[in-house]
Amino acid sequence: MLNDHKKNLEQQYSKFQKAPKFSLNSEQLYCVCRKPDNGELMVACDGCDQWFHFKCMHLDKKYKDLISKFYCVFCDELFGRGKTQYKRKCRLPECYKPARVDIVTGQTSKYCCDAHGVKFMKDYVVDVVRKSEKETTSVNALFTKEAISIANYSEFKALGMTLPIFDKISGKSLVNLMSEQTKERLASIDVNIGNLEKLERTYESKLKYLMKLRGLVKKLNEQLTKAILDENMKISSVDLKSQNGKGGSKRNRNGKNGKASKRTAKTDICGYDTSLQLLGNSWIKFTNGERYKSVIGWDNSFSINEKGILTEFKLLRKRLQITEDEQREDVSREQSEGEMNSNIKSDGCIVDKELTIFCGLCVKDRKKCSKHLTWYTTIYDSLDSNIASISEEINTLRKEKDKVKQEENIQLWEKWRNNPILKNESASTVIHQGITPK
Ligand SMILES: [Zn+2]
Ligand SMILES: [Zn+2]
Ligand SMILES: [Zn+2]
Ligand SMILES: [Zn+2]
Repeated sequence: MLNDHKKNLEQQYSKFQKAPKFSLNSEQLYCVCRKPDNGELMVACDGCDQWFHFKCMHLDKKYKDLISKFYCVFCDELFGRGKTQYKRKCRLPECYKPARVDIVTGQTSKYCCDAHGVKFMKDYVVDVVRKSEKETTSVNALFTKEAISIANYSEFKALGMTLPIFDKISGKSLVNLMSEQTKERLASIDVNIGNLEKLERTYESKLKYLMKLRGLVKKLNEQLTKAILDENMKISSVDLKSQNGKGGSKRNRNGKNGKASKRTAKTDICGYDTSLQLLGNSWIKFTNGERYKSVIGWDNSFSINEKGILTEFKLLRKRLQITEDEQREDVSREQSEGEMNSNIKSDGCIVDKELTIFCGLCVKDRKKCSKHLTWYTTIYDSLDSNIASISEEINTLRKEKDKVKQEENIQLWEKWRNNPILKNESASTVIHQGITPK
C-alpha cells in the first residue's frame, strides 16, 4: 500500500519532469497540471522552486496569507525536503490573516490587528454576559452596553482602569442621594468652569478679531499704495506736459521724477487697533458693537471706493502730522488742543467714529511706529498662551469633578452593600475588571 503510493508518486514525478516547459504558443507552463499562468492562485515550493496551483495541491485558498513555508507533494513525500508550515492565525474565527508579530520583542499577538483583538473581546464579553444566569438583567445590560461602545484598542485597555460613574443607583438619581457637601463642592467647581469658559471665549473672540484685522490692514496697505501710485502718475504726466510746453530743462525734469518716485513708495501703515487694549467687560461690550461685527464679517473687499479710502487716509495723516508738530513745539498747547479735538488720541492713534475703516487704527508708518512694534505677533502669542493655559485649567477642574463623583459613587455603593435591608435591592451599578486582549 505504502509502496504503491510511492511508486505512483515516482511515476507522476517523472511525468512532471519530462513534461514540456512551454506551450505551443511559447507560454511558460506551471504546476503538475502544466497550464500557463491564467491568474489562478499559485504558490512557490521552497524545495524545488516550482510554482503550483492551490487547487492542484489541495490547499484552501483562504489560508493563502498563513503559509510561511510550502513544500510540494514531491518535495514533501518523495524527497523529504520538508513539510508545509503555517503561521499562527488571528484568533478571530472569521479572520484568516496571520497573528501579528512584534518587530521589537518578537512576541506573537493572538490577533492580526488591534481592531480584531477588540472585536474578539467584545464578542466574548457579549457572549459570556448573554450566557450568564447569575447576574441581573440591568447589570448585563450595562456591561454589554459598555463593552459594545468601545471603539478601539486603547479604550479597551482603559476599561476597568477607573471606576464607572453612574447617574443612578437602584433607580434613584445620584444627585438626590448625594450629600449636601458634595453637591456644594460640585456646584462651586461648575462656577469656576463657567467663569473660565467665559474668559476663554473672550480671548478667542479677540484672537479672531486680531487675525481678521491683520488681513484687513494688509489689504488696506495694498489699496493705499495702488491709489497713491495712480494719483502720482496723473500728477507727473500733467507736470511733464506743462514742462514740455514751457520747454523745461533736462535737469528740472530729473528733479521732478525723483520727487515722484519718493511719493510712490509703498504705503505701510502700522494698523494697530486701539480696541485691542480693551479688557474684560469693555471688550465684551466692544464685541457686541458695529466695529467688531464689521471687521469679523469682512469679506476681503472694501465697500467704499478707493478714492474714499485715500481721502480719509490723507486727512488722517495730515492730522497726525499736525499733532506731531504740536508735540514738538509746545506740550501744554498740544494737550489743550487734544481736549478740543477728541478724535486724536495723545498716543498718536486716531479714533474717528465717522471714518469706518480707519476707526481706531494707527496710521503711522509701520517702521516709524515704535509704540506698536510687532503688535500682531506680540498680541497673538499672549492670547494663544492664555487660551492654552485656560483650557488646561478647565480640564483639571473637569477631572476633579469626575473624581468627586467617583468618590461619592464608592461611598454610596458601600452604604448599599453594608445595609442588610438595602442589600436585597438590586443595585444597578457594577465595578468590573479590565479585560485586556494580549
Ligand atoms: Zn495545477
Ligand atoms: Zn517541490
Ligand atoms: Zn484578524
Ligand atoms: Zn502704531
